Amino acid sequence: MDKQVVAIKKKISKLTEQLLYIQQECLHENVVGEMKGDTGNWCQQDDSYWISADCQDCGKHLHIDSKKERDLYRKYSMSGMIK
Ligand SMILES: [Zn+2]
Repeated sequence: MDKQVVAIKKKISKLTEQLLYIQQECLHENVVGEMKGDTGNWCQQDDSYWISADCQDCGKHLHIDSKKERDLYRKYSMSGMIK
């Protein structure tokens, strides 16, 4: 592989690592997003609700499922940050 390419790849992985670290540490308290849902299924148990949002601080995309992450879902849905 080209030397320059190797150097770029090294930088990318280092930066990706740094970004992941920031995103892990972030509390995602400044998000913009919306409530989504898949309803009207034949079986009502298949209906699902989730929040799709992006953290304005760390840039992470958040997908919060109402069933899997109940507390978090409630917190965000009442935060006023979600449309
Ligand atoms: Zn965040």
